[in-house]
Amino acid sequence: MAKQHFLFLGHQDLSGILRGRSVPKERHKMALAEGLPWVPGNFSIGPTNVIPADNPFGQQGEIRLLPDQAAMLALPSYDGKPALDLVLCDARQHDGAPWAYCPRTALKSVMDRLKSEAGLTMKVAFEHEFNVRGLNQVAHPAYSVSSGRAVSGLAAHVMQTLVESGIRLEQFQAEYGTDQFEISSIPADPLTAADRVVLTQEAIRDGARQFGLHASFIPKPTPTAAGNGVHIHFSLYRDGKSVTVAEDWLTDISGPFVQGILDNAETAVLFTCLSSNSYLRLRPNSWVGPYTCAGLRNREAMIRVVPRQADADGRHPKASMEYRASDGTANAYLALAALIGAGLDGLKRKKMPVNVARNPELLGAGERERLGLRLLPQSLPDALAAFDHEAAASWMGSALVEAYLACRREDARQFCSISDEEAASILQRIY
Ligand code: GLU
Ligand code: MG
Repeated sequence: MAKQHFLFLGHQDLSGILRGRSVPKERHKMALAEGLPWVPGNFSIGPTNVIPADNPFGQQGEIRLLPDQAAMLALPSYDGKPALDLVLCDARQHDGAPWAYCPRTALKSVMDRLKSEAGLTMKVAFEHEFNVRGLNQVAHPAYSVSSGRAVSGLAAHVMQTLVESGIRLEQFQAEYGTDQFEISSIPADPLTAADRVVLTQEAIRDGARQFGLHASFIPKPTPTAAGNGVHIHFSLYRDGKSVTVAEDWLTDISGPFVQGILDNAETAVLFTCLSSNSYLRLRPNSWVGPYTCAGLRNREAMIRVVPRQADADGRHPKASMEYRASDGTANAYLALAALIGAGLDGLKRKKMPVNVARNPELLGAGERERLGLRLLPQSLPDALAAFDHEAAASWMGSALVEAYLACRREDARQFCSISDEEAASILQRIY
């Protein structure tokens, strides 16, 4: 019997989970050309498979998952399991028209606005922090050779799997926390970068399974453990030239863009921090950046400005802005759509952010207030209460925002009525 080889067509849903369906080898060609039917209600299945009662989809209707073959990852066969090609899809209406709830489509449309309204393009790279369970190792020092060696077989496997599908990574390292590691990607346009977030995380999860381990992107494995962030590095370009940093600070383009994110922080954060567990991570003195400020090389600022080296002309072609209040539960497309939408709002107002180069926690309440620094929501219910529906609807459309909110309200209902420890132990099996 010829070896089977599955093709999985899927999408990252409103709870940040890649879901879809597979076809056998003889159906690959047809599925790649025509896509597969999908159930609208599946978009709002939550992390524990509960569909929120107030979801807008009901039991009716049918949509199509239409594959984008540029967003592909080949997972190798192992242990008698067949090879599996993952291909990410747009969700479209049955007749091929855009579907208002598709996160991938929402990101493409705000990228178009960035180009048409501001003449800008963006590049994005992600740093993924995660925990690996099942290592059974004696405790190793943070960032040490011995910690790195504990998972270097897994890291090499993940990198090889990704490279074979054209996805290169920048680096791998042991992180600060116990059994915590980090993999970072190279910059790409926002859509490609978001696709790679989804595929990279699946490559890490699948690789860990192959090694008899479990990888989790849970933001807080326990309320006191080191957090797992997924930091978003972004940079802006006009006519192919970076307009991100000049003379060690933001430019008159990137500055207002960043100020727009800071002004809309409470709304953007519900897209970059999706789960109840996410909000345990947004604490001062955790290297996260829970205050609404930007700071030069400051890891306690919500947006760290990273100039990197200047070239001979004093330009900083590799500079980036690092949004730190994000984690691996997020839907990557909506997280980027929110940041771009908020940045476009800021471009209209043209206000420059101040450089908060110190730890905001040490500035004292009076100074923070003078500088306009706010602490991000400290729980999912607080984030829901602070959310500005109108702003979010202008970034990605009201229908999508409503469906997303129904999912977050259901998360809050399920996970805010149990202890943080219990919620973390459930969610780390999922994220
Ligand atoms: N683990 C920290 C976080 O939760 C970040 C540490 C770092 O700067 O890499 O975001
Ligand atoms: Mg890190």
